[in-house]
Amino acid sequence: MTARRPRPQPPPGGLLDWRDASHWSRTEKPCRYCGFPTHLRDSKRSPAHKVCAEEALTIQAAEAAAAYQNGRLSD
Ligand SMILES: [Zn+2]
Repeated sequence: MTARRPRPQPPPGGLLDWRDASHWSRTEKPCRYCGFPTHLRDSKRSPAHKVCAEEALTIQAAEAAAAYQNGRLSD
């Protein structure tokens, strides 16, 4: 029996657990962030290094926090 696992969410600390085989491809493709070849895939199956994806998550989180200062969107 194969139960579908829930979609992995970004962890609070920003470090991803990419030990799962779904994050590995036999084919090297350019990382979507830095352009260097990688076997790794992100949660959307796009080529990405783990460190690049973590950095992007950190930036996204910082931008979201900045945009929602005082509990609402700033201009
Ligand atoms: Zn990269």
